[in-house]
Amino acid sequence: MNKFFKCTLAFLALTVAFSGLRAQDRNAGKPIIGVSATTESGLAAAPLTYVNSVKIAGGVPLVIPMTTDEDQINAILEAIDGLVMTGGEDIDPLKYFGEEPNLHLGTIVPERDAFDVKLIRMAVAKGIPVLGICRGEQIMNVAFGGTLYQDIPSQAKDSYVKHNQNAPRNYATHSIDVEPNSLLYNQLGGVKKINVNSYHHQAVKDVAPGFRVTAYSKDGIVEAIEKEGTDCVWGVQFHPEGFVSSGNTDFLGIFKHLIDCANRKR
Ligand code: MN
Repeated sequence: MNKFFKCTLAFLALTVAFSGLRAQDRNAGKPIIGVSATTESGLAAAPLTYVNSVKIAGGVPLVIPMTTDEDQINAILEAIDGLVMTGGEDIDPLKYFGEEPNLHLGTIVPERDAFDVKLIRMAVAKGIPVLGICRGEQIMNVAFGGTLYQDIPSQAKDSYVKHNQNAPRNYATHSIDVEPNSLLYNQLGGVKKINVNSYHHQAVKDVAPGFRVTAYSKDGIVEAIEKEGTDCVWGVQFHPEGFVSSGNTDFLGIFKHLIDCANRKR
């Protein structure tokens, strides 16, 4: 056997051994959780609070860059076991739920809207577990036919709670009532009332067909939704990652449930 042939054989044997290991790791290891990228000029990035919460809950975070190319999204969805849709900018009301823009509508990012809507619809169609947070919850509602308050203070007439807090992200400023026998209720260990943080001026108005509301603030603003007929697609208006990433375990069950769903999906 000449030297070259020996090297080639050894290389082939190693390649086979490594690919075997990889497959084994994937079966025995932690689930891979996609985290939708936010809009930062020139970056494909997501805040560490989301990334670290996935890690703390037992998953492997993988940031998904913005794209509307369906082949790219398909390939990414093949690689992940679960998905977190992150918070961020306002959603274009005219394009996604047929309303003129309110005077107080904030910044909209058309390419992120298109990416998020496509990603979440394709993920749900493939049976991939999805947790939507803040904008992620709102985009979940809009992607499946629901509407939003574009600006709570001017559109939700009975609202009296401050939903845009001036306090640290791991500090709770308003309470929510949680629907018993809902995903959120179970994830929080069976509590009907809990205090949450609040960083939003938009909120779910009409819930999408096939979804139900599972938590409200005292002024009637929707704080959580879930898809009926599955226990692995849901969203929250508050920011559990603000608590989980700082070591507070009160909301860890929300991320743990995503990991459980992802493990079942694999
Ligand atoms: Mn709120």
